[in-house]
Amino acid sequence: MFIVVGTRKRPDGNLKAMFLLLDLWKKGVRDCFYDANLSEKQFERACQRFGNSYTEPEQTLPEEEEQEEDTEREEKNTRQELIRVPRNTLIIEAETAMHFDNGVIVVDDEEASNGKAIESARNARGIYEVYIPKTGKWYVWIRTYYKSGSQDSYWIGIEDAEPYPWDEQGGPNAIKIWAVPGDDSKWNRWLWDTSTHPLGKSTPGYFNVKRRGYYRVWSKGREQGTRLDQILLTRSRRFNPETVSEGKPIPLHTEPHPYEPATFEECQKLIRHAVEISKAVEAEFPWEFKYWLHDIWGDIRKFPEPEGSLYKCQKCEADLPDQAVDLIKQHAHSDDIQFYILCRKCGGEFD
Ligand SMILES: [Zn+2]
Repeated sequence: MFIVVGTRKRPDGNLKAMFLLLDLWKKGVRDCFYDANLSEKQFERACQRFGNSYTEPEQTLPEEEEQEEDTEREEKNTRQELIRVPRNTLIIEAETAMHFDNGVIVVDDEEASNGKAIESARNARGIYEVYIPKTGKWYVWIRTYYKSGSQDSYWIGIEDAEPYPWDEQGGPNAIKIWAVPGDDSKWNRWLWDTSTHPLGKSTPGYFNVKRRGYYRVWSKGREQGTRLDQILLTRSRRFNPETVSEGKPIPLHTEPHPYEPATFEECQKLIRHAVEISKAVEAEFPWEFKYWLHDIWGDIRKFPEPEGSLYKCQKCEADLPDQAVDLIKQHAHSDDIQFYILCRKCGGEFD
């Protein structure tokens, strides 16, 4: 099952949004909810609501776990969990961009959070969509790995937010984060760094954010070979992630957004696939879907065509043979029959 959410911005700045529940395993387009006028805050809430009504409640850790101090291993884990960050702090994983320009590569790195970081050719960007919940100054830090004097810098920017200090070479909204030439104390280790600031070390670089809402935050390569693991934005001027974490990654404390960014085309493809399934099993389309689809997603005849079999392997998404597809089709309307059908390759791994 997928939940696909699409929005368009209205002339007044509010959003119209379509929430779709797609069932690529049986019935295709299952549910649709459309709202023609939502503020960004209302949209956030609607996302949560729609998501919650179709997903299982989040698992929460039992409270005892935090109090255990028995073994060294647990202590280590706990300590990592206990890095405190100020309330208005956003942490972005570099490898989770919704878009990478050519020239950005995701690299495996044991010491990076989630084992992954990025390296970017000069001017190649990673773009992250981020909801910034408060106006004012947002101080910026990056967790980075500098290798040498020609591999020790990155640019970070936020579209529509005034940077300080602005680095003109990085383009509009850019802040340069780098080791001062000759300063090799920052090389060959992971560390949290911020811009070298004309007002001195106690003032990290910051962006002046004038409205609450969605922003495109970007990273941009300056010297290829520099690694970027996390970007941290915080309202707190005093917060120094290097001091509190000793260069370690900072785990995401905030509840992760329930949705992942997808391209317009990826969504169109999923929708088209679901539509084909609905047609094949003669499922009824929700009226809101028929009525509003075009408004948000455009002409369905121009959506990318689905390829291969109607249903896919549950494990690897490879095509399934006709007999399997026919079997699912036959039972698509019976809620009490659930299949778990795998392709031959994946099936071999099971009894
Ligand atoms: Zn498979």
